[in-house]
Amino acid sequence: MRREATLIRGDGIGPEITQATLQVLEALGAQFDWDEQYGGVTAIEKAGTPLPDATLESVRRTGLALKGPLTTPLGGGYRSVTVALRQEFELYANVRPVKSIVPGGKFPDVDLVVIRENVEGLYVGIDRTFKVGDDPKALAQTMSVMTRDGCRRIVRYAFEYARKHGRKKVTVVHKANILKATSGLFLETARQVAEGYEGRIAVDEKIVDNAAMQLVINPAQFDVIVTTNLFGDILSDEASGLVGGLGLAPGANVGETAAIFEPVHGSAPDIAGQGIANPAAQLLAAAMMLDHVEELDAAARLRCALELAIVKDNVRTRDLGGSASTAEFARAVARRL
Ligand code: ATP
Repeated sequence: MRREATLIRGDGIGPEITQATLQVLEALGAQFDWDEQYGGVTAIEKAGTPLPDATLESVRRTGLALKGPLTTPLGGGYRSVTVALRQEFELYANVRPVKSIVPGGKFPDVDLVVIRENVEGLYVGIDRTFKVGDDPKALAQTMSVMTRDGCRRIVRYAFEYARKHGRKKVTVVHKANILKATSGLFLETARQVAEGYEGRIAVDEKIVDNAAMQLVINPAQFDVIVTTNLFGDILSDEASGLVGGLGLAPGANVGETAAIFEPVHGSAPDIAGQGIANPAAQLLAAAMMLDHVEELDAAARLRCALELAIVKDNVRTRDLGGSASTAEFARAVARRL
């Protein structure tokens, strides 16, 4: 069945990696009707705003989007477009799978998923400075806000994800020993949710500093990690660094009514326009999108073709130690399909 989906190619390397992804999806025979929209700097050039109403309306209608990285211009009062999209559609779950693909890495057997709460905590936007005497910024304050409902739905999402994807263990990462109110509420609620999965999915608790250390000592011990907004941001980048960096890290932002799939990396202005960016993260984001619409076979074929292109055909972009261009990598994946 054909499905309409919003396409936002993005800024910097976004258009290059998205073009590569569209070619691979065509080779796969994936059935998306794309409604192309704009965001970030490209949207400012076209529509005078980084997040045009037409883009929001499209995502509202399709409930499904593939998006490249967006650049938020510094100054000009623009807030992050990516964060604004998450807030607008209440995309409360950020899902970032991290898996060893490239052989010869330090950690050959990593296969974990970081599930990060995406709309609460320190990202609610209560962030201000205060004037004392003649110093306009003598005091700075950022507030973390968490709700029991918000904690419950993200932990539930993590356990349900584990159940659906045949995963065995959920590790709850927190800092409840110091942040007694916010992180304490998260941990307390996580324990309640975990009870409902007793005997089916194991649960484990780790304080965030210990989790960060354990990740670099023995990442294979982790299966699903669920945590709050800022900790999840940091741990998922750390985890992607264990297996070859950002070029291989996809992410999904999921809510009740919409889901947006994107690479974890930014717009990489240092290499934009050169045709050398690694499109793998965007391709793996497309695979997550196929999973989301229950095209499980297509998603598995795409992941398998990508792994074969890297491992067996040895076609790799520069960030992975190879010399293939973005287009050559896409062709290698398409050939495997
Ligand atoms: P942002 O603020 O948008 O996150 P950034 O420059 O801080 O941007 P990235 O854009 O993620 O962060 O880039 C970090 C580094 O990783 C850069 O050197 C970039 O070239 C590299 N990089 C990111 N994505 C890719 C990719 N897909 N292929 C190759 N290199 C990449």
